[in-house]
Amino acid sequence: LPPAALTALQHPDVAALLPRPDTESDKYRRGVVGVAAGSARYPGAALLAVAGALRGGAGAVRYVGTAAEEVVRRFPEVLVTEGGPAGAGRVQAWVVGPGGGEGAERALREALASDVPVLVDADGLTELARLGPAALAGRTAPTLLTPHTGEAARLLAGADQGPPPQADGLAAARLRTAHRLASAYRATALLKGSTTVVAEPTGEARSNPTGTSWLATAGSGDVLAGLAGSLLAAGLAPLDAASAAAYLHGLAGRRAAGRGAPVTATDVARQLPAVWRDVH
Ligand code: AMP
Ligand code: MG
Repeated sequence: LPPAALTALQHPDVAALLPRPDTESDKYRRGVVGVAAGSARYPGAALLAVAGALRGGAGAVRYVGTAAEEVVRRFPEVLVTEGGPAGAGRVQAWVVGPGGGEGAERALREALASDVPVLVDADGLTELARLGPAALAGRTAPTLLTPHTGEAARLLAGADQGPPPQADGLAAARLRTAHRLASAYRATALLKGSTTVVAEPTGEARSNPTGTSWLATAGSGDVLAGLAGSLLAAGLAPLDAASAAAYLHGLAGRRAAGRGAPVTATDVARQLPAVWRDVH
């Protein structure tokens, strides 16, 4: 890999990236994001990913999976179908994996077979680690991987790239890991953690300047996945979608924590509209 110029976005950069409707917009032009998430055991992950997706700027959110009833009860604006991504109707980007449980394998397979961008998180990443980089070889649209450190280690072990990286918190090591992932899978890699970094197979990389350790809370990553997928559906390139999502998510976490208070993933999702206004 070429030595990467590591950049960090600022408010004006993010403001310029965020999709905003204009007079000619309709919901389809704004993008439909498909969320394949949740399982009998983890229905909440579906709700959190959908909550993030609703605040990412896509014109509509389509949900597929076993939590359809819960999703539509909580979010009546979501289009729901049972089953998997195949045949689910019009979608411009898929989010696969949060709380996916036993449905993750099917969801991943069907989403990867589509010709739209796919974001893979959580149980989708576990499945992808089992399959290895070959599972992405035939894709015609970009793939965005959003692992935390443990998921990244499993992906790299599956990619047969030597020993799994140390689970250290050093920014340099994290950047190296993101680069190894992007390179091995030929996909954009968003590595979550104390410093979230995004890397492209080309070597281009960004580090996220926002965020707070209060975000280390259950479900927080599910909100981020939905948010980033929504930005993909709205037409942002994977590097832009991933880094803008990490930026907004970090600010939402800070806003929710205020001077220092525990935040929940639901709090983070609720702060997203205010963060959009702050960044503008
Ligand atoms: P997940 O592990 O999928 O629930 O995602 C956790 C989310 O919290 C990601 O957005 C991480 O970047 C963020 N996060 C976790 N730990 C920290 C930390 N120590 N400092 C800042 N952000 C964190
Ligand atoms: Mg997660």
